[in-house]
Amino acid sequence: MADTRPDKLIYLDHAATTSVDPRVLGAMLPYFGQSYGNASSMHTLGQEAKRALDEAREKVGRALNCRLSEVVFTSGGTESDNAALKGVAQALRETGDHIITTSIEHHAVLHTCQYLESVGFQVTYLPVDRYGVVSPEDVARAVTNRTVLVSVMLANNEIGAIEPVAEIAQQVKQVAKSQGRTIIVHTDAVQGAGYLDLDAKALGVDLMSLSAHKFHGPKGVGILYIKRGTPFIPQNLGGGQERERRSGTEDIPGIVGCALALELRQAERERLAQHCRRLRDRLVAGIQERIPGAHLNGHPTQRLPNNVNFSFEHVEGEPVLLGLDMKGIAASSGSACSSGSLEPSHVLLALGQPAELARGSLRLTLGKDNTEDEVEYVLDTLAELLGRLRAMPSLSTTSH
Ligand code: PLP
Repeated sequence: MADTRPDKLIYLDHAATTSVDPRVLGAMLPYFGQSYGNASSMHTLGQEAKRALDEAREKVGRALNCRLSEVVFTSGGTESDNAALKGVAQALRETGDHIITTSIEHHAVLHTCQYLESVGFQVTYLPVDRYGVVSPEDVARAVTNRTVLVSVMLANNEIGAIEPVAEIAQQVKQVAKSQGRTIIVHTDAVQGAGYLDLDAKALGVDLMSLSAHKFHGPKGVGILYIKRGTPFIPQNLGGGQERERRSGTEDIPGIVGCALALELRQAERERLAQHCRRLRDRLVAGIQERIPGAHLNGHPTQRLPNNVNFSFEHVEGEPVLLGLDMKGIAASSGSACSSGSLEPSHVLLALGQPAELARGSLRLTLGKDNTEDEVEYVLDTLAELLGRLRAMPSLSTTSH
């Protein structure tokens, strides 16, 4: 196998973050420098910023097939999720106190739901099947006459499972109609951007969260789509920006970058998906052929084109990640390090995976610049590394 470290980092952690596209950076730069105005200012410099803000909103409106007034810029996916869930729950508090979500959501949703439980809401965390997919029928059956909000992610960040959000929204709206009540549907689409259709009308959702740094935009900028008429109490109070829904001076360079990155990504979506799918399928097949005791996590086909996630028997995730890093490969484990020990991922546990096996998980997420040669190098490196780790009793697990 190739045992020299490659000159260039092999980045296989695109679900964590992506590099800023040079075209995006170029479009942002003037707004740090000569065009640094506050979009709320009356003078020419301020109006220049306002124009950039309006143009960015138009780009997002086209990408999401929605009205410009339905686009709210935020500081990222976490804020969008928090604002959506708290904003709707508070607005509909008088009509009900029940929320439905899934057990595999991102912590931005799960921890917000836990907070809402602490202030009196009831939350149903629906299970998923062994591939990580939630059933629309289960969602519809979980609706009670107290339900005000349903939140289901468009695609999972760890295992890439694509959730049937359009069907869920349709069924929930049908139940709501039969009850003569309002039930709001939110989707965390942070991982879907660039791979899946983000047409808000086709999805049938009332709210949708996005984050620019997942699609080659800058970090710290996101979008919350709020359908017109959705009951919503803003969480950020102040100067009344974003039509009173998110106060705070707008981050014009970030917003310009976010909108252009989304536009570029939507235009290049098919090509990117094809490229990633080919590399993903090669990685999956190569791992299955060459590494015994490797379990593919997530759905074999109903998954993001760029996501590969395996659990390996008799090995912990951390030494695998460190070993790959030493060979110039940036990857991720499904496990989060908490108080010095690797906690198995809540997503893998929700699939019914034993904790021992879930601790040996590895996520490889591809992007536009990855190549076939890189994939072959990763396969060689991984096969050699796992063989070596499994032969070292202190680094391999005794059971799974
Ligand atoms: N939701 C999902 C599904 C994510 O993958 C992430 C980021 O990892 C977030 C929300 C949070 O987004 P941000 O990093 O912009 O706060």
